[in-house]
Amino acid sequence: MGRIGHHIVASAHALGCFLRAGRRQSHRLPVGRMLAACASMMIILTVLLCWPCGCSPKTDGTATTLQGQIIRVRLHPAVDQVFIRADQPPIYYTTADSTRRQLDLPPNVSAPVTYSADQWIVGRTSLGRGELILRPIVDGSVRINDKPYRGHYRMIPVGGAKLDVINELDIDEYLKGVLAREVLAGWHDETYKAQAIVARTYALYEKLVPRQAPRHWDVYADTRSQVYGGIDAETPKSRDAVNATAGIVLVAGPDAHGKIFKAYFSSCCGGISQSSMHAFHDPYEEALSEQNVGSLCSASPKFTWGPIVVMKDELTRRLRQWGAGRNGITKNMASLRSIDIELRNRFGRPVRYTLTDSQGTRYSLSGEELRWAVNTDASPGTTLNSSFVESIINDSDRARFLGGHGWGHGVGMCQWCTEARSQAGMRHEDSLTLAYPRARLTRAY
Ligand SMILES: [Zn+2]
Repeated sequence: MGRIGHHIVASAHALGCFLRAGRRQSHRLPVGRMLAACASMMIILTVLLCWPCGCSPKTDGTATTLQGQIIRVRLHPAVDQVFIRADQPPIYYTTADSTRRQLDLPPNVSAPVTYSADQWIVGRTSLGRGELILRPIVDGSVRINDKPYRGHYRMIPVGGAKLDVINELDIDEYLKGVLAREVLAGWHDETYKAQAIVARTYALYEKLVPRQAPRHWDVYADTRSQVYGGIDAETPKSRDAVNATAGIVLVAGPDAHGKIFKAYFSSCCGGISQSSMHAFHDPYEEALSEQNVGSLCSASPKFTWGPIVVMKDELTRRLRQWGAGRNGITKNMASLRSIDIELRNRFGRPVRYTLTDSQGTRYSLSGEELRWAVNTDASPGTTLNSSFVESIINDSDRARFLGGHGWGHGVGMCQWCTEARSQAGMRHEDSLTLAYPRARLTRAY
């Protein structure tokens, strides 16, 4: 453990174990399973904290090897093929044959990669079966669909000749390709640092949280997790912010039992945020509770918006389609009669809505569920930027959403609020403890 020994002592107190779980939506773990998961998390965290501190892939023989905290990014989910191009032919092997071989790929020629009849085919070459692992000779020298990424690639057959492309790399290298896609180019350095810590906490949570159905990846490369653009997305500001905060994460809970939590963030809270409990049915977590910030983020172009007007026939179609896609309750609803605000949080932001159909049947949806449902297969100009509207007028043939505020789910850190605080001279550490009440910073690795 050597030079990071003091980190382990400092972090072991602070990190404790996970008691919260749950995806972006409404999945909860039973208490018994959460306790069992907690025990397993101690083991995982021990392993995590004892790993060597490293950042960039190092060259080992002819191919690069990975060191540090590895994150698995699902670049391309269940696709028929991708195209690969390399400055230098990478090393490859499969889970069926671990012999390392150099891929016979002409330099700078784009070749299709497919998986059919239990065989990987790259260009016209068959590479065998199982998972296909590609290790670049030089970090970043292999492009997937013409985009370069750091680290390694793992290609996984997922059935029906479809394949997943997973990018495995050091978490801080990953974050350098996230920040500039999540934060505006002209924003303050302190905002970049705050975002680096939040994105690291979010990614580590996704990596370490116990799952009922284990999966071969940790995060998506888009807004389902965090937007990641690989090397092309890196900027000097994104690299500086990640380096300046390397290893620092947010934890919440009692001093001796703090834990990494799912550090949600969104673009603009619209003045009143909502809790992860209201938005995603998560267990209550004070660090992710609602706040009233007044007009702090009013510089955002989405601080106020609307009205949004949608015909009820069209809303009925979207609500049914959303319900069918999620096996939800609105799948077979009759024609929509009305949408009404059912519950507001303590600062007045609506967090629950009631749908009533023509037969008088009522459906209760969280604000986020309503937003996803209304935005399902929607045309531009008829979507909700957030679930925060002041009122809804139900005309006979249309619904009018009035007084919209904010952009995104409005849970956790508001990026426009953070930028306003940075511009006012606040340090990122203080900004983060305002964004996540009673949370604190610690070193995870
Ligand atoms: Zn805000």
